[in-house]
Amino acid sequence: MIQSSVEFFKNLPAKQCSECGEKIEEQHECYGSKCDHCLHVSVN
Ligand SMILES: [Zn+2]
Repeated sequence: MIQSSVEFFKNLPAKQCSECGEKIEEQHECYGSKCDHCLHVSVN
């Protein structure tokens, strides 16, 4: 049986922000474990 692309993405672990628990978009994974919002907030 061929695994569908939907099942493939389901197996990927959902990344969440370590600050607020917001789901992190794939495009921001290089920044670490914080969402875009918290990344800007944490810059004091
Ligand atoms: Zn956050």
